[in-house]
Amino acid sequence: MVLVSACLLGEACRYDGRAQRSERVLAALEGKSVVPICPEAAAGMGIPRPPVDLSGGTGVDVWALLKEKSPSCGSQRVYDTGVLRPGEGITTALLRADGRTVVSDEDL
Ligand code: SF4
Repeated sequence: MVLVSACLLGEACRYDGRAQRSERVLAALEGKSVVPICPEAAAGMGIPRPPVDLSGGTGVDVWALLKEKSPSCGSQRVYDTGVLRPGEGITTALLRADGRTVVSDEDL
């Protein structure tokens, strides 16, 4: 089972009300059980919404395939105070703390 950023699957859940459908992601997920999630929409932040930004600051049975650069879903680079920096987003940090494997859409 793979937890996937819903915007990558074509759900119009981004801050700007658009999707970011990725044919590469869809191809990689073919035949797999998928759980779409948009953490920001699930948190009730609304669609569209002001863009989120960061400031300051073994288990392999479930993979999480999340959207790079997002302050919620990023796993290698995130926007911090409007600048793209190395780091992980909030959902990725939570999943990793729980021992989950997070895969970036850019690594497919
Ligand atoms: S929070 Fe994640 S799933 Fe939602 S729009 Fe941003 S990158 Fe996509």
